[in-house]
Amino acid sequence: MAYLGRILHGFKTLLTGLRITGRESMRKPVTLTYPHVEPKLTGAYRSAIKLIRFEEMDSHDCVACLACEQICPSFCIKIDGGKIEGIKKKRATLFEMDFALCSLCGLCIDVCPTDTLEYSRLYDEAGYDRDWNMDLLEEFRDFEPTFIEQQREREEKEAAAKAAKKAAAAKAKAEADAKKAAEAEKAGGDAPKSGDAPKSGEAPKSGDAPKSGEGSAS
Ligand code: SF4
Ligand code: SF4
Repeated sequence: MAYLGRILHGFKTLLTGLRITGRESMRKPVTLTYPHVEPKLTGAYRSAIKLIRFEEMDSHDCVACLACEQICPSFCIKIDGGKIEGIKKKRATLFEMDFALCSLCGLCIDVCPTDTLEYSRLYDEAGYDRDWNMDLLEEFRDFEPTFIEQQREREEKEAAAKAAKKAAAAKAKAEADAKKAAEAEKAGGDAPKSGDAPKSGEAPKSGDAPKSGEGSAS
């Protein structure tokens, strides 16, 4: 009797399992057949930081100010760089980040004065060890000599435009000063001078009265 009961119990659990399997097979899948299907990342997705490539300069804008390196609580950023021959703009020559240490806090992004840092959209990085030192300048290195040449031209154009603007402002000021001086001179010429004699028909002033002994006898 107990044996038959165990068979019935086994049959019942089998039916329960089949029912759950049947119900779940009707539902929309919540997993992806990666790597055949790319995941849709949300806007708030965060991964290792990267340097932004700005369209107008076709490169990053890291000026090696070290603000991100200094604020990083995980000490995972290493930067070197500075003044580059031929251009005024400073440039980073080394930018490494140890992703194994990064907590994705975002302080480096917030503090960057040129807004050249952002989170990347990496999601499938994998490895067999903890060496996650990333070279953030790698994708920019080949273009750097061209960037420096273009930057030199940009700076020359900016300087010429600045000088032209300054000259135009100086010219406008000189013209305005000259106009003001001419108006002042004209206004001064029109005003009556203190030594001017009264014109005919004007009443004699008190000082013009006949002196004693002068005038007709009665
Ligand atoms: S996100 Fe935070 S921990 Fe990661 S590199 Fe930037 S400052 Fe450091
Ligand atoms: S804060 Fe920005 S500009 Fe300064 S070193 Fe970091 S990435 Fe470069």
